[in-house]
Amino acid sequence: MFKINEKHLLVKGEKVKHLACPKNQQLFSAGQPDTIVIHYTAGRDAQSSAEYLARADVKASAHLIVSREGEVIQLVPFNTVAWHAGKSEYNGRVGYNNFSIGIEIDNAGILTPSGNEFVAWFGKRYPANEVVKAKHRNEQTERYWHTFTEVQISAVEEICQKLIERYQTIVQILGHEEIAVGRKQDPGPAFPLDKLRMRLLQERDSNEPLQSNICYVNVNRLNIRSLPDIQSDTVTEPLAYDTKLLIQQKHGNWYKVKTEIEGWVAADYVRLKE
Ligand SMILES: [Zn+2]
Repeated sequence: MFKINEKHLLVKGEKVKHLACPKNQQLFSAGQPDTIVIHYTAGRDAQSSAEYLARADVKASAHLIVSREGEVIQLVPFNTVAWHAGKSEYNGRVGYNNFSIGIEIDNAGILTPSGNEFVAWFGKRYPANEVVKAKHRNEQTERYWHTFTEVQISAVEEICQKLIERYQTIVQILGHEEIAVGRKQDPGPAFPLDKLRMRLLQERDSNEPLQSNICYVNVNRLNIRSLPDIQSDTVTEPLAYDTKLLIQQKHGNWYKVKTEIEGWVAADYVRLKE
């Protein structure tokens, strides 16, 4: 079992190693982090990716790198800002380094067919049984993607679970591909991102199951926000009376809803299906 200690470090005996990354010293602001961002390394192995990201002259880093054996290298404590998101935007908010914990998963990323094998951008070859052909959420055509291992996926899930238990501020899990659309493809379609966040966030957030997942706006103008927080930005114009909303997630007294746009509304101002 992974644990998070009082120094905001992940521990699990020999399964977690720590590599100093002194370039990251800035602590998160109060109320942060609220997001976990999932990445793949597009690298050769976890150790080389960790050593690269820890370098003083590299303007990137991450909190964790998860190996294909489910072992972890931590570079940055969870109370400290790491540099994994880069230029990023989601629901009208920019600069996700300041709001998120970054988990890098060792994976070669996009592969190119070569004979009966597949080759990564850095030249390493992979057998067909480590490759999946799939369409990325941001793309129109199928490509070849390096698969993640089962032990790796379950390690990532357990780590996310420990993080959202320990840091109650965390309300969402996003892929790098969702906060840097067009610029980034990770973690890509080989990673079960939708299933993972459904299991982790739905389970935590719904103490009682929702009777219905449809509701209607019950006030004249209802603000729809990027996060379940009255201080957070509105994502579009207020919703009109009777707008039909699909509830996707519950958090405290907020619903995450979908209409043409996704965001959070105060639960007091909607009525569930009559
Ligand atoms: Zn990434």
